[in-house]
Amino acid sequence: MLRVAVSGAIISASFVAFQSSASAAEFTGCRYAGNANSLKWANLTTRYEYSNPAQVAIAAWNSASTHFNFTNVNSGANLNVADQNFGQYVEGAAIDGLTSWRCSSGYYTETVTSSWNRYYTDGYPGIERKSVIVHEIGHALGLGDIEGSACVIMNGATPTRYGACGLSEPQPTDIARANSLY
Ligand SMILES: [Zn+2]
Repeated sequence: MLRVAVSGAIISASFVAFQSSASAAEFTGCRYAGNANSLKWANLTTRYEYSNPAQVAIAAWNSASTHFNFTNVNSGANLNVADQNFGQYVEGAAIDGLTSWRCSSGYYTETVTSSWNRYYTDGYPGIERKSVIVHEIGHALGLGDIEGSACVIMNGATPTRYGACGLSEPQPTDIARANSLY
């Protein structure tokens, strides 16, 4: 996980390359307050190649076994999903997705944003784009990165999570971990 302060916000990311210096933690330390079954998300993507995986990624987390649910809205969202070109490096790291937030006493103080980095993801197939944004939404829920070879959606390295493991859906371990927060 890349954890840096950007104008007071914290960002967590999905890595294009293995990142040995990344700090891993089971949880990010911030989450949604209140009733997690009435969370709202806004699809701020610019085109179908991103709006479709955004929708299926939200649906993947909105499974019957989760303790939270996102409803699509046009304004007043708890989570924005967006696509943007952040360039080759963010704070020196090659990342294909990132999530940014502001936190106080363990809870978000404003809308969280999960984004693709189009510098990389414009060249990904749709299923790999889904893998990246399902991972990023996991950060929005409060999950940290898992390092090593574990086949979980919160594995921070796309070459492992998607490349080696072939994952684009939250796994039972990811869901149990997220449910523990809500
Ligand atoms: Zn991550």
